[in-house]
Amino acid sequence: MVCQEIPDEVTLALNISGCPNHCKGCHSPWLWKDEGVLLDEKFLSILVERYKSDITCICFMGGDQEPATVNSLAAFIKNNFKEIKTAWYSGLEEIHPSISLSNFDFIKIGPYIEEKGPLRSPNTNQKFFFVGKDKSLTEYHFPPKNG
Ligand code: SF4
Repeated sequence: MVCQEIPDEVTLALNISGCPNHCKGCHSPWLWKDEGVLLDEKFLSILVERYKSDITCICFMGGDQEPATVNSLAAFIKNNFKEIKTAWYSGLEEIHPSISLSNFDFIKIGPYIEEKGPLRSPNTNQKFFFVGKDKSLTEYHFPPKNG
């Protein structure tokens, strides 16, 4: 569970392995391997049932090798756990066309580029959006780490 990745939310962050992006200086290179437990609707339900009284949001961290699956799992949350918000941290340059904005409340895009830094860096290439109910995107800028 994390509190800083999504503003004002207590988030269950799910690290998805098999990341295809292989960014230089990656903070989590162990996620390049395809390993772990299959994240399907059944396993997601077990996780949400276990943690739903403690969280306000679920964030899919990665999954760029299968954006349509991430989209489908977010739709599953929206349809079955309406009180839980959904977020996706993607390393892709753009929001993938298989993503339906109606399934997400927050989306982060952009690979990690060492010289530009992460979301809290003033020079970052990464973008974080609030997704409105009308599917509008409002960019949010994280405050600098010591700011
Ligand atoms: S997208 Fe994230 S996990 Fe994947 S290589 Fe880049 S920094 Fe690492």
